Amino acid sequence: MKTVVVAGSTSGLGLGIATAFAAKGHNVMLNGFGPAEEIEQAKQSLEDSGAGQVDYHGADMTKPDEIADLITTTEKKFGAVDVLVNNAGIQYVAPVEEFPPEKWDAIIAINMSSAFHTIRHALPGMKERGWGRIINVASAHGLVASPYKSAYVTAKHGMIGLTKTIALEAAEHGVTVNAVCPGYVLTPLVEKQIPDTAEARGMTEEEVKRDVLLYAQATKEFVTVEQLAALCVFLSSDEAAQMTGTALPVDGGWTAH
Ligand code: NAD
Repeated sequence: MKTVVVAGSTSGLGLGIATAFAAKGHNVMLNGFGPAEEIEQAKQSLEDSGAGQVDYHGADMTKPDEIADLITTTEKKFGAVDVLVNNAGIQYVAPVEEFPPEKWDAIIAINMSSAFHTIRHALPGMKERGWGRIINVASAHGLVASPYKSAYVTAKHGMIGLTKTIALEAAEHGVTVNAVCPGYVLTPLVEKQIPDTAEARGMTEEEVKRDVLLYAQATKEFVTVEQLAALCVFLSSDEAAQMTGTALPVDGGWTAH
């Protein structure tokens, strides 16, 4: 049984990843925002699905002190952080001239810098134990760009650079570090950006789904939360010990263009 921290796991992909690890019987530390009763429900449903123990830490991933506390609290409670999934993320869509600087700062902090902070606290314990898995949830937007997403694309490209660097630093300690790069998944984060993209491009919401979101996704299908979660579970297995420093697309062929 391992202990898994999933940053940003009260919703969408993070909750799906936490659910997949719970179903394998691991301890899970949830994190993220949301109504207390929904978080309690998520905890309960993970426990019911066969997890070891499940707990929740409300660290705001823009706050380095709270991030440090997320890792130390998990280590105290469960004895270790074996698997760290950096998944917290937000989005904002606007042309760069109109991009609010406070949105830029928030996206860089949550989507990129938070991973630096979790890693710097969790890696020493992993090295000491000679085993660890770090999975950074980047995006197809870590590999290619789209207009009007300057902060997001910058942060996700940065996340892949961080992945490669820490993979090299950790390689001889039994710790692998990989980035997963989903294409579009219909989660609240994507649903929220459809009206903004429609406005920015002067399109209807249906046109945004078909002609923008799935335009480059060759399968013309959304990726599912379960498909991405299964890859995270595989990356955490011993069979994946020689996979490190990678950026793995799960994007219906988007980045094959
Ligand atoms: P989501 O909005 O459903 O979930 C985001 C999670 O991050 C939530 O649990 C939220 O509470 C948490 N979060 C946001 N700000 C936080 C903060 N300051 N501190 C702590 N937690 C915070 O979004 P999602 O679509 O599930 O996205 C999850 C990750 O997957 C993000 O990093 C996103 O960039 C990435 N991603 C998503 C897609 C997609 O199509 N949905 C595609 C590629 C990559």
